Amino acid sequence: MRSTMQEFPLTLTALMRRGRDVFGSSKVVTATESGFRTSSFGEVATRMAQLAGGLASIGVSPSTRVGTLCWNNQEHLEAYFAVPCMGAVLHTLNLRLPSSQLAFSINHAEDEVIICDSSLIPMLEAVLPQLNSLRHIVVIGDAPCTTSLPVHRYAELMDTSAKTYAWPDLEETSAAAMCYTTGTTGDPKGVVYSHRSMYLHCFGVWGGLGLTDSDSMFPVVPMFHVNAWGLPYVGWMLGCDIILSDRFMQPAHLARIIEAQRPNFIAGVPTIYGGLLLLAETSPVDFSSVRLAISGGSAIPESMIAAAQERHGLRIVSAWGMTETSPLGSAAFPPPGCTPEEDVAWRARTGRIAAGIELRITGEDGGELPWDGKSVGEIEARGPWVTGAYYRAEAPDRFHDGWLRTGDVGTIDPSGVVQITDRVKDVIKSGGEWISSVELENQIAGHPDVLEAAVIAVPDERWQERPLACVVPRPGAAVEPEGLRQFLSSRVARWWLPERWALVAEIPKTSVGKFDKKLLRAQYAKGELDVVLLPPLPRDDG
Ligand code: ADP
Repeated sequence: MRSTMQEFPLTLTALMRRGRDVFGSSKVVTATESGFRTSSFGEVATRMAQLAGGLASIGVSPSTRVGTLCWNNQEHLEAYFAVPCMGAVLHTLNLRLPSSQLAFSINHAEDEVIICDSSLIPMLEAVLPQLNSLRHIVVIGDAPCTTSLPVHRYAELMDTSAKTYAWPDLEETSAAAMCYTTGTTGDPKGVVYSHRSMYLHCFGVWGGLGLTDSDSMFPVVPMFHVNAWGLPYVGWMLGCDIILSDRFMQPAHLARIIEAQRPNFIAGVPTIYGGLLLLAETSPVDFSSVRLAISGGSAIPESMIAAAQERHGLRIVSAWGMTETSPLGSAAFPPPGCTPEEDVAWRARTGRIAAGIELRITGEDGGELPWDGKSVGEIEARGPWVTGAYYRAEAPDRFHDGWLRTGDVGTIDPSGVVQITDRVKDVIKSGGEWISSVELENQIAGHPDVLEAAVIAVPDERWQERPLACVVPRPGAAVEPEGLRQFLSSRVARWWLPERWALVAEIPKTSVGKFDKKLLRAQYAKGELDVVLLPPLPRDDG
């Protein structure tokens, strides 16, 4: 028996119409050097139509890949809807990738048009000689661009004679946008999102993060990092005021934006919160407008969540996901009835499986492990916003009977709460057992004199691998390894305690602000880290 329901396609066009028609007076605010520029959703919607007209005039047609090399700003949001809704494919380019990887992803996706912020033209010019599919460059602003390709000014390309665009009817399964992973292991890999997956992900994020149409959101996460976690789309759908930082990502600028615009929802990676909280220690930041701060991208130390809450009244909740999962996979909202301590601990967890997503854990033989909160295995995911393949790249080892192998290792408890303990490539296999580098990092970061800590596996003759803790002391603080090990000793199993410690000025970061453990391992292998070796403690088992 068939249902009587309409077969209504789930497309970004439907979401675009909603923001335009229902929330015409909501605001898009973009930070400038010293102030802000503001447009209404109504104005932005008209500009989306005009941008689509302009892009069509230079030959953008269904399936044309249009790259964006842009900060978080109004024009980027315009492209977020204009490109997919005209049937073309939005490819957000990660402006922090090394140029070889940037060129790789542009060529691999076969971008024909790139929309580029003026401030990023030098970055684009540096890769232009390596590009082989590009036909047009659209520059937001006035910066000159040296190239033999046609260069269009965004403001002039817009078809300002029109107020609307004949948005085509699209199939919900057609490609809407694509993102590449950051390529920490080999070439970046492309994920192509469909209209349907992005539409459903919006609803998943809306409910999963508990957003409402009275929120004003400040997605600090870059719009090139998994579509700013889908937040601009959710904000548009809900009519939230959307606040964008443009290129002003330094803590002092973020603080200025938060204080002036008073968002009640913000989202960023732990390094962003680390920078903001460090600033707030010396020059207080008014976070009083913010009811919820989502942290994702890597595990956040519980100590950071506690300090944000206690010292600055900022409520941070961790969420987990990846490029391949659009990204929302879980969020760590505490259940009712938690004590204040439990509440903080809860919010640092990986979180409960998001509605719409299914997760399981598998052991080394590929068999499914129980949800007992103890069995550790690789997390696998499936669902309407989880990729089933990579774009034009074979990766059979990443998929398993219709599930995505996330490359994350962890546990699931009987109530569907996930705890990631590591990435497969970062686990420390010591004497046949696993040490969680993430747990060690989070505990070390809880030391009052520690700013950041990253832990990597290094070869060890006796135990195959042992942890090396790389620690950045807080400015002006004196820390020494023996004291840190002492601090850790009551917090983790004795056999986890690292013997090797390196005090470093900073932890290298990837293009999306995560600890670059691959680089740390290389630095160690080349003898570039100044490692202190403490005498080993006897293991409990001798
Ligand atoms: P890339 O894989 O290119 O580094 P992603 O942003 O897609 O970029 O990274 C996804 C990965 O980030 C996850 O597989 C996981 O390892 C890590 N991650 C994201 N959020 C969390 C979190 N809350 N806790 C622990 N790890 C996280």
